[in-house]
Amino acid sequence: MSEEKSLNFIEEIIENDLKSGKYETLVTRFPPEPNGYLHIGHAKAICLNFGLTQQYGGYTNLRFDDTNPVTEKTEYVNSQQEDIQWLGFQWKNELYASDYFDQLHGYAVQLIEKGLAYVDESTAEEIAAQKGTPTEPGTPNQYRDRSIEENLDLFAKMKAGDFEDGACILRAKIDMASTNMLMRDPIIYRIKHAHHHRTGDAWCIYPMYDFAHGQSDSIENITHSICTLEYVSHRELYDWFIAQLGIFPSKQYEFARLNLTYTVMSKRKLLQLVNEGLVSGWDDPRMPTISGLRRRGYTPESVREFCERIGIAKRENLIELSLLEFCIREDLNKKATRAMAVLDPIKLVITNYEGDGEILIGENNPEAEDKGGTREIPFSKELWIEREDFMEEPAKKWFRLAPGAMVRLKFAYIVKCDDFVKDAEGNVTEIHCTYFPESKSGSDTSGLSVKGTIHWVSTKHAKTAQVRLYDRLFSVVSPDAEEGDFKDYLNPNSKEVLSKVYIEPALADATLGTGYQFIRKGYFCLDKDSTADHLVFNRVVSLKDGWKG
Ligand code: ATP
Ligand code: MG
Repeated sequence: MSEEKSLNFIEEIIENDLKSGKYETLVTRFPPEPNGYLHIGHAKAICLNFGLTQQYGGYTNLRFDDTNPVTEKTEYVNSQQEDIQWLGFQWKNELYASDYFDQLHGYAVQLIEKGLAYVDESTAEEIAAQKGTPTEPGTPNQYRDRSIEENLDLFAKMKAGDFEDGACILRAKIDMASTNMLMRDPIIYRIKHAHHHRTGDAWCIYPMYDFAHGQSDSIENITHSICTLEYVSHRELYDWFIAQLGIFPSKQYEFARLNLTYTVMSKRKLLQLVNEGLVSGWDDPRMPTISGLRRRGYTPESVREFCERIGIAKRENLIELSLLEFCIREDLNKKATRAMAVLDPIKLVITNYEGDGEILIGENNPEAEDKGGTREIPFSKELWIEREDFMEEPAKKWFRLAPGAMVRLKFAYIVKCDDFVKDAEGNVTEIHCTYFPESKSGSDTSGLSVKGTIHWVSTKHAKTAQVRLYDRLFSVVSPDAEEGDFKDYLNPNSKEVLSKVYIEPALADATLGTGYQFIRKGYFCLDKDSTADHLVFNRVVSLKDGWKG
């Protein structure tokens, strides 16, 4: 029986448009501004735009919305492309709003010629004062009725570089009494003597977002221009420019942006964290950036699954970070090779074990369909185990090691604790056990039954690694909603470095981009800081959702 998935509101619009023959081919775009690295919110928009054309045919363009020369960089263009491809999507055309600067300038001239735009020399304060309020209409100023010739001449001078930044602007002549404040003669061009990452010094006037976005969509024959809710009030202006210019009628649709608990989601704010050294970079594994998630050990599948599960909403909402963690746990549970690593080691000596070089066989992944094959694990008389797996005075229902208690060593034997050694400060330094030779995993004839199984690593075969444990980057649910600076709410304990972790030898062959389950300890991945002599692992996520609040 196939389960019918109900359509979201954008899918409904698209199905209707295709059925009615309004459009033959669906064309969407993903339009990032190259002023930072992409974050999980962008991943949502990427999955939506590319997902729709995968579902309904047609194609998706990648268009860099690079109309703001001061904040944009080629480094960001490159990282944004890498992140989209890592997520598993490929654009049809790589385009830049700056490629349309000539055409957009031509559109502005057309508006002037139609008497629909004028050069305004008022100061920013005067313009703000003339704008009115949502309940009172604005007041037109003396520049509004300049002649077409005068406007053409002044606009040409703006373009030629005859004026300083801010000396004048080009405004659309729409309606100073409109109930939509954005329709009260919005700015369409401003003077900015700045070097652009692609057009260099060719321009000293740059179009505003509202004048560039819709027209760029139209130039590319975008049928459905999907953006986030803060652009609802811009839609009227979007349609007005397209109608006045008589160009391809792209249409804008809005959905709720993704907000996630315990994080901030704005390139501008993430840039502050990078610039002020509060994180190690855009790809710090605690960052909500796509590159941060990748370095943390998230898979593209898990991020796409997350975007799918949260769906498309028409109202602002806040998604739990734990849902994102759930998605990576689910994915890695199926994929990750199991291995043993001891994070907080204490030595265990098996006093009656005389074997040398015994090799045990471990299953790589009991959750995978093919069980992931097996690997060899060397065993010996001396092992590292977790300090927390031993209790000198065991609590009730304690099934792990304690004086006189028995436990199974994973893939190996049952051992019984006979004795332990303490140092001068009273810390346990060594545990002494005896083992039962006939209790070997897979061929156990001992008749013994134990409730606890613990992981271990043979001391003489162990490799050493550094392990980085991460927690939420912020200690409050919505850092943006708090008083004062969002950076005051960083979680001081968001990163813990364990410098001497013992890992089983097979993990020395770990590769970047692969997830491992350290049995009982969580999912981990190799970090890019790793070298052959200095292995570094990141914890992707713990095995269970262990958050308290
Ligand atoms: P930021 O403030 O992080 O820079 P932005 O909206 O200014 O975000 P753009 O580069 O302009 O970033 O966005 C590219 C596309 O990604 C836009 O269509 C935008 O609507 C979408 N987008 C950005 N943030 C989110 C989010 N949190 N959820 C969903 N879509 C988003
Ligand atoms: Mg933006």
